[in-house]
Amino acid sequence: MDMNDLTQRILAGERRALARAITLVESGRPDHRAQALALLDGLRPSGRQALRIGMSGTPGVGKSTFIEAFGLMLTAQGLRVAVLAVDPSSARSGGSILGDKTRMEQLSRDKNAFIRPSPSQSHLGGVARRTREAIELCEGAGFDVILIETVGVGQSETMVAEMCDLFLLLLAPAGGDELQGVKRGIMEMADILLINKADGELKRQAVRTCADYAGALRLLRKRPQDPEGFPKAMTVSAVEAAGLDDAWSEMTRLMEWRRDTGHFEARRAEQARYWFEAEVREGLLARLREGPAKAAMSDLAQAVARGDTSPGQAAQDMLRNHLGL
Ligand code: GDP
Repeated sequence: MDMNDLTQRILAGERRALARAITLVESGRPDHRAQALALLDGLRPSGRQALRIGMSGTPGVGKSTFIEAFGLMLTAQGLRVAVLAVDPSSARSGGSILGDKTRMEQLSRDKNAFIRPSPSQSHLGGVARRTREAIELCEGAGFDVILIETVGVGQSETMVAEMCDLFLLLLAPAGGDELQGVKRGIMEMADILLINKADGELKRQAVRTCADYAGALRLLRKRPQDPEGFPKAMTVSAVEAAGLDDAWSEMTRLMEWRRDTGHFEARRAEQARYWFEAEVREGLLARLREGPAKAAMSDLAQAVARGDTSPGQAAQDMLRNHLGL
């Protein structure tokens, strides 16, 4: 495969080239890895940046309905929108639950949209790399907005938040007691809470839920990266496409504020450092697990499990004896 050619085609916004490149970053083969890195390096000078929006919510809350309506609103404004799905559980369930394109039927036919379902990946590290690099590829291809969808499970939200400029949490209308069910950590991570299904019979309940969440948000410590009034809670209806323009204008307002105050760039820089360290950590571990140190690694793991030695001591031995550190 000619990487220069592929780079040029991505820069020209060719969707097939983009899809092929994402397949490359998803591959575990060392030669593909080298090609992927060359490709990402080739795209970097373009300096293109998209707005990276992370989105989480439990299954059934309306994520795909929201993305379809929100995405179509943005493409109607002439923006190019990419949708990436993150679903670390897909390996276990034997197929991606977010991969069903028919859930965003109209958007998937829109020539200004690009939808990429989650691949089957067993570990979070692999999913993280794939998603982060797919984001870079989409930016190189000139997309304006990248939506990264994740289900509300475990660490995937934290991971997605570490690669986004903005994090949305989609919630359903609920009774007062259920509000407690949203983990504080996730609330703190979100920039905007969207209470979906504010339509028909659920509308009043959605408005009340929104007020409850707004109250809960006011109790959180003020973050330096937020202007007055953020994080905030708003109601939307994905099926009626209501409140989406308001949500979008709050998002752009927040982003402009962060750009003006330097928080936007500072956060991206911090994220780049974070992922660099994550890659080093993963790389070292992979080397120890696969290389000549493999046996020692598994022996020490067993010794630690038996309680013969402490994790700290075993790790120090490992690093000293096998990496000379
Ligand atoms: P996901 O699992 O989070 O992706 O949720 P879906 O988008 O598949 O939606 C789950 C269900 O909620 C579907 O039956 C949707 O029709 C319904 N739904 C989604 N958004 C809304 C909304 O704004 N209002 C109402 N009343 N139902 C909605």
